[in-house]
Amino acid sequence: MSAASRNKTQSQGGGKPNLFSGIQPSGDIHIGNYCGAIRNWLNLLDDYNCIFCIVDYHVMASNYDPKQLQKRVRAAAITNIAAGLEPGKCLLFIQSQVPEHTELTWIFNTLAPIGLLGRMTQFKEKSRNNEDNINAGLFDYPVLQAADILLYHAQAVPVGDDQVQHIEFTRDLARKFNIRFGDYFPEPKALVPKSGARIMGLDGQSKMSKSLINYIGILDTPEVIWEKLRPAFTDPARLRRTDPGDPLICNIYTLHENFSTKEEQEEVATGCRSAGIGCFDCKKKLMDNMLKVFDPIRERASELNEQPEFVDEFLAESAKAAKKQAQDTMTEVRQLTGLR
Ligand code: SF4
Repeated sequence: MSAASRNKTQSQGGGKPNLFSGIQPSGDIHIGNYCGAIRNWLNLLDDYNCIFCIVDYHVMASNYDPKQLQKRVRAAAITNIAAGLEPGKCLLFIQSQVPEHTELTWIFNTLAPIGLLGRMTQFKEKSRNNEDNINAGLFDYPVLQAADILLYHAQAVPVGDDQVQHIEFTRDLARKFNIRFGDYFPEPKALVPKSGARIMGLDGQSKMSKSLINYIGILDTPEVIWEKLRPAFTDPARLRRTDPGDPLICNIYTLHENFSTKEEQEEVATGCRSAGIGCFDCKKKLMDNMLKVFDPIRERASELNEQPEFVDEFLAESAKAAKKQAQDTMTEVRQLTGLR
């Protein structure tokens, strides 16, 4: 990284490096998202200038309802603020309010190898799921993602392991740009959380996902959480209360690892193996611990719903600060590429 680039990445707040993360517009954030993403972000707020962006441009690459988009964006903002992404700690803005994201995407498009884009695992998966709408935006998704990150000279990007390939692609694009136009962009690193990155769904079959309806939402009421948790899949060997089980193959135990204390985890593991605890009581204990985390978030979200000006102001101020950084980057990029 050049001295100019290094100074830029570290000069935007107390000498800390920038971190970027995109948030899909959905208020229905589930506990998999919380454990794999939000909880880790909260731990990073002190070490980085954190820039969180609700990625409405990205949504357009998949089938979506335009009438619902604003509602989804709003819900995502409220849920994430309630979970801890508060003013003063980070920026939280809406991607389309900073159109420089798409301008940089076009410039990166002229460097992005189509062979590499076609090999992206997410593109292949999404193409299978969107067979009626395999559009250029879907193909180009990693380029927009690279622009999202590099527009802010982010050096760190917290992602799940399924997104590491896209960060590698971003690094590759940064390198290509630097070779072609001069050393300018940093090569960001992927921050993959050690735990919680892969929470299975309540069916125990696949990753927790909204579309598979196998999830618990972090704003779900205690009644709804219990309705979902009570019949959730456990170790199939525990047909009767007296049958011993193996916690290591049970998703409920994985959730205990995310929400219960070490002592409680040991109690559950021993009780499961000796049939000293039943699955019903094990799930009750888990639910009590989850509610300690989610009750305050649900209450805060409900307050924020009554404070639209607070949410509007945070989003607007964040967009203003992000736009300033984005404009500075684009001024320099235009000069480097010969546009101005
Ligand atoms: S006791 Fe708990 S960890 Fe063991 S199988 Fe039942 S739910 Fe899973």
